[in-house]
Amino acid sequence: MKIAVDRVREGLEDLARFGGTPGEGVSRLVFSPADLLGRAYVKERMKGAGLNVSEDAIGNIFGTLPGTEPELAPVWTGSHIDTVLRGGRFDGMAGTIGAIEALRAIGEAGAPHRRTLTAVAYTGEEPSVFGIGCLGSRAMAGVLDLETAKAVKNEAGKSLYDTLAELGYDVDRLDAVRRKPGDVYAAIEMHIEQGPKLERSGCRLGVVTDISAPAYFNVWVEGLQSHAGGTSMADRRDAFAATAEISMVLERLVKEAKSVYATGTIGRVDVTPNALNVIPGRVHFTIDIRNTSDGSTGEILAALSEEMKRIERERGVKVRMQTINRDLPVHCEDGMQDLLAGICERRGIPFKRLISGAFHDSMFVGAFAPISMLFLPSRDGVSHCPEEWTSYEDVALGAEVLAEALLVKANE
Ligand SMILES: [Zn+2]
Repeated sequence: MKIAVDRVREGLEDLARFGGTPGEGVSRLVFSPADLLGRAYVKERMKGAGLNVSEDAIGNIFGTLPGTEPELAPVWTGSHIDTVLRGGRFDGMAGTIGAIEALRAIGEAGAPHRRTLTAVAYTGEEPSVFGIGCLGSRAMAGVLDLETAKAVKNEAGKSLYDTLAELGYDVDRLDAVRRKPGDVYAAIEMHIEQGPKLERSGCRLGVVTDISAPAYFNVWVEGLQSHAGGTSMADRRDAFAATAEISMVLERLVKEAKSVYATGTIGRVDVTPNALNVIPGRVHFTIDIRNTSDGSTGEILAALSEEMKRIERERGVKVRMQTINRDLPVHCEDGMQDLLAGICERRGIPFKRLISGAFHDSMFVGAFAPISMLFLPSRDGVSHCPEEWTSYEDVALGAEVLAEALLVKANE
């Protein structure tokens, strides 16, 4: 299966025009005018590639190439086309255009496949103006329902529900977007690495083993605000000193965790009153834990909770922790990992297995289907910026491996 580099370049350069400004990268937030133009382009390109196009109630776009036994569960491949502000032209788009080109090549070659093949452009993967990302795949996983769509609002106070209704989507049928196990036989997402590992090791492709998932928390520490000179060390209930101890405990627990991919970050700290000569009475801070094992995250959280109780007792403070979000990490199916690795080996393509530290639509698709991911090298390891770059040759090569893997899965 040969994928023309020119076709890949054309698709990616065309898409980059919607919301793209020279030197400023691409700004194509979900449902922005640029995104709507990009979505129309994707539908046209799917049609031009010989695919049947449809859309669901949250705007996920499907381009299907019917199999000889269409009653069998289909095989999916795809990614997203929305970007962050001043983002690049490859994050999401490489996997969307790659999917369309892989299916076009399969269709043109007349390669037989029992299962229907579907190229998917998932709606709004990046954090949206509604405060959540992965809108399309989240709805497929049943995590974003009608109630949530009405509850989440943009800064102007307009809900996701109203936004979708205004765009003409049959949003009351949002529950029909939901997929259940068995609906999709397998899903493979091609995506840029967004890190330096492939480039540094001279690899042209990466086979993802696990997608690390984030868990976010708010923590409030209540102490006693008082005079820095007048209050002895023994009499203090310093909310910041307690916070500092919690941060050291978190660092130790994450380093000692069973999962080597666990990370823990306190990225935001608000100290009250935040004055030079006043003992802080109140601190709010956030915790971001990423892990490829939810069990390991659970162990970290259980140990952290015990340590917080000890710190409360010893320092005379009150600590309250609230979960903002806890997504489940996903393991890429071993069989598909081996399939992708085997194709690379046979073709002499240098590759390596690696985890995804960032999350993707596949994390939610993994809730109802076996998934795998193929990574492409990111120049200098950077993404979410105008400098984001992956060579068109690598995207085309990835799409060739993708097409081969899709055919194997579609004939199982
Ligand atoms: Zn992405």
